[in-house]
This record gives sequence, C-alpha cells and structure tokens, in this order.
Amino acid sequence: MGKPTGFKEFDREKVPWRLPVVRINDYDEIYTEHKTEQLKTQGARCMDCGVPFCQSASGCPIDNLIPEWNDLVYNNRWKEAIERLHKTNNFPEFTGRTCPAPCEGACVLGITNPPVTIKNIENAIVDRAWEEGWIKPEPPKERTGKKVAIVGSGPAGLSAADQLNKAGHLVTVFERADRIGGLLQYGIPNMKLSKKAVQRRVDKMTAEGIEFRTGVNIGKDISPEDLRKDYDAVLLACGATKPRDLPIEGRDAKGVHFAMEFLTANTQKSVHGDSLNGRFISAEGKDVIVIGGGDTGTDCIGTSLRHGCRSVVNFELLPKPPEARGADNPWPEWPRIFRVDYGHEEAEAKFGKDPREYQILSKKFLTDDAGKLKGIQTVAVEWTKNDEGGWQMSEVEGSEKEWPAQLILLAMGFLGPEQYVAESIGLETDGRSNFQAEHGKFATNIEGVFAAGDCRRGQSLVVWAINEGRGAARAIDVFLEGSSCLPAPGLTLGTSLAGV
Ligand SMILES: Cc1cc2nc3c(=O)[nH]c(=O)nc-3n(C[C@H](O)[C@H](O)[C@H](O)COP(=O)(O)OP(=O)(O)OC[C@H]3O[C@@H](n4cnc5c(N)ncnc54)[C@H](O)[C@@H]3O)c2cc1C
Ligand code: SF4
Repeated sequence: MGKPTGFKEFDREKVPWRLPVVRINDYDEIYTEHKTEQLKTQGARCMDCGVPFCQSASGCPIDNLIPEWNDLVYNNRWKEAIERLHKTNNFPEFTGRTCPAPCEGACVLGITNPPVTIKNIENAIVDRAWEEGWIKPEPPKERTGKKVAIVGSGPAGLSAADQLNKAGHLVTVFERADRIGGLLQYGIPNMKLSKKAVQRRVDKMTAEGIEFRTGVNIGKDISPEDLRKDYDAVLLACGATKPRDLPIEGRDAKGVHFAMEFLTANTQKSVHGDSLNGRFISAEGKDVIVIGGGDTGTDCIGTSLRHGCRSVVNFELLPKPPEARGADNPWPEWPRIFRVDYGHEEAEAKFGKDPREYQILSKKFLTDDAGKLKGIQTVAVEWTKNDEGGWQMSEVEGSEKEWPAQLILLAMGFLGPEQYVAESIGLETDGRSNFQAEHGKFATNIEGVFAAGDCRRGQSLVVWAINEGRGAARAIDVFLEGSSCLPAPGLTLGTSLAGV
C-alpha cells in the first residue's frame, strides 16, 4: 500500500484533456502529458482495501492488478509497474485510453469519495514504458510447430495472437481491411486512440514472429474449410460489424449514413491521407444529426466538429440519466449516471450547448425533390412502467418537430457478426446471431474452430475483447497441447497468474 492516509489527504484529480476549442482543430489525441508527481499522489489514494473490487467482480474484466501498480507508481517503481500490468493486459495503452473504467465504478473508495484515477495511472505506466524503451520485442524461445489462423485483427484477435505466440505457436492474422486493428484502427478515432499507438504494437508483434495478412477476406478470398485444413486451429475474431438500421420513410435519402462509413473514411483520409475516390463523407458546413449515443455517437460528434459542421445534435431515445447512482444501481455496479464525454464537451464549447436531446423518436427523413436529405421529423416520447414493472414507451401527442439536417449519422449499435463465414461452414449461432461458443471454452460446434470477442459476445468493449482473446488463446493452447501455461480469463488473483 502506498500511503496509508493518502485517501484522506488527497482529492481525486484526473489528467486533464486538451482544451476543447483547441483540440477540435486537429485529430491529435485529446490527452495532455502525464505528470509524475500528480500520478504518484493519485496512486497514494489507493486504500489497498483487502478485497480489491476494482480488479475483480464487477471491476476490471481482465483482473488488472490495480492496487499493486498503484503502490508501485506511488513508490516511483515504474518499470515493475509495467511488468505487473503486462501480466494481465497485453495492450494497456488501448484500455488506458478507451476503457470506460468499470474498475473505478467498483473502487471501494468510491463508496464515500471519488474513486482512484485508475485508468489514468494505467495509461501513464504504459506510456512511460514505451518512452523509456522498456517494451521491446520478445520472441518466444521455442516453437511448438503448431499453426494457428486468426480471422480479424481487433483487440480480441490481437490479444489472442500475442498470447498464442508467447506459447510458441506460429500465428497468422487475416484481416479483410487494408490496415490492422479492427475497431482500434477504423472505429475509435485518432483523437481517442492514436493509430501510431496501434501500429507500434503491431510492429512489435511482427518482430516477435506473428504474420499479419491484410486485404484477405475469409469466406470470400479463402474459404474457412481451407483455412481449417492448413492450420491446426482457427480463431474467429470477426467483430460485431452488422449495424442497426433505421428503416423509416426516406431512409434512402442522400445524406443518411451509418456511423462506421463516416468514421472509417475519416480515419483513412484525415489521419492516413488515403485517397478515397469520393467515399469521404464531409460534415463541413452542414447541420449534422447523430442518432444514438454511446461511444460511436460521441465519436461522430467529435469528428463532425473537426470537419467544421454548422451545428450538431444528438438524439437519444432514453431519458437523461441521473447525476448520481439510483437506489437500483448500488456500488460496486457500473454507475448508470450522466457523463460528459469528449465530443459532448467539444460541442458545448463550440455551440454553447450540450448536443444531446433526450426522449426523441425519429419518424421520417425529409428530402428535397432531388432526394437529398434536408431534415428529419421526430416526436417526443415518454417512458412509463406497465403493470408487470417493465418500461414502455409512448409518443407525446402534439410533440412532432422538424429538424434541419444535411447529414444524419446512424449510431444505434450493432446486431452481431456478418453471417457469411458462419454460413459457409455451418457454424452454430445463438439467438442474437452471435457465433455460438461458451465463455471460458470458446469452442464452436466445429472441431478446432474457436470464437472470441464481439462476434461471440455481441457488441462490447475493448477490455472485454482482450479478456476473450486471452481466454480463447488458452483454450486453443489446451486443444493443441493438452494443457496450457497461459492464464484463464476472469479468474481471481492467484489462479489467473499461474504460469504467466
Ligand atoms: C465507433 C466505435 C467506438 C468505440 N469506442 C470504444 C471505446 O471508446 N472503448 C471501448 O472499450 N470500446 C469501444 N468500442 C467497442 C470496441 O471497439 C469493440 O468492442 C472491440 O473493438 C471488439 O473487438 P473485436 O476484436 O471483437 O472486433 P473488431 O474490433 O470489430 O475487429 C474485428 C475485425 O475482423 C475483421 N473481419 C471480420 N470478418 C472478417 C473476415 N471474414 N475475414 C477477415 N477479416 C474479417 C474486421 O474487418 C475487423 O477488423 C467502440 C466501437 C465503435 C464501433
Ligand atoms: S482495463 Fe479498464 S477496467 Fe481494467 S484497470 Fe484498465 S481502465 Fe480499469
């Protein structure tokens, strides 16, 4: 434990983001430099509380050893801190930048005070380790001679590749996109997670012996059967890439796009400088409406502002969340409260108003004579409890409204993986069309074929994809070798570290 009285002496202080009015002029990361003294003080706030809920239960999905590295940071032992962090997390710079931090929601200090700034400390440890040159390629000393194919290079595929390579297997990652990273590359924008940080890990993994093959679509360019014949095991980590549509009148209007079309093209052009042959979707000078909240909605707001939009509004179907936990949402559950993310803060700074409009139902896209989008018609809704205690939605009479819009982005979540891979090999899917495989085993109905990440659990988080990739790697190692020294996901301290 760092300082026994730290939590009484010091207040929570987050590493600030760059000023919104400044950062909307570029695509650089929103974060400011880590300040060692501040982080040490924040590490000192950790109470080493006996049962660290932050790293287990409803806290960190990969069992990060949080109290240990809080203590190490407080004591200026940064190199040991990264060693502890890498025992449970292959890519702390991805989670340190993007994770919503369920650990902080479960922090025991959070019962009475603002929780420890765990996520900031995690990010600072790994950034320092890269700066100091402590993170270097470490190829495995021995090879097993077994070959594993991984389909998809998001955080699930990458963490599985990293673990399987450590176990000595020869790993090839197949990715249909032109760059590696899945949603780390083409979903989450550069201002939240720099593509240089993604490539830096890919380069390290390449130097360690992992082969990456981009522009290869499994199920189209290579059949899954051929892959299974050529490799000793196959892991499907294809993500949940099927977007939820909004099939209301006027859906085919020119100017209505899925969020991912907008975000992917933006990263390709604005960050990588690719020429897109007209695929770039610009928000410049437009009234933009983003339908749906969450990370995707926020990223659309932030990107539209950087394009120079004229206005931006974000529709949410649900009511505004409360400022503090409700009675039905006690600690250590994830707090379902009102949050201001980077895009909301930026919109407020630019237009003087939070962009979110709650309890809004979209009814009809409005077009001009040429079929070009000119707005959207909505109605307000209210939510009441029915006799069984369930929530039901009803439209508020007379609340119809028209909003001007030349660009509307659909950010309403995803409906599971695309089905062509599953269909081509007779893979079983669950009721929500995800690839059927039990968490912990990750085996599908086809011998030697495993599934992990969003394609198995449905749309989720980077940290859960890492949990799944690590777990699937262990399951594959057991399948190939009969036993494994790789850690299992979601186990508690003592068991999860065996053999790391
Ligand atoms: C816009 C957006 C922002 C997000 N922001 C956050 C955030 O801030 N924090 C957070 O924790 N989570 C965030 N998420 C969620 C998070 O990114 C995902 O949960 C996570 O990336 C899932 O990882 P995955 O490896 O399972 O799949 P993905 O990252 O989706 O990767 C799957 C990869 O498989 C490839 N693929 C699919 N089929 C094939 C095939 N047949 N052949 C070859 N390749 C194939 C795809 O091209 C893709 O690259 C966000 C999601 C989106 C859409
Ligand atoms: S990965 Fe997420 S939940 Fe785990 S310690 Fe980091 S911020 Fe917290």
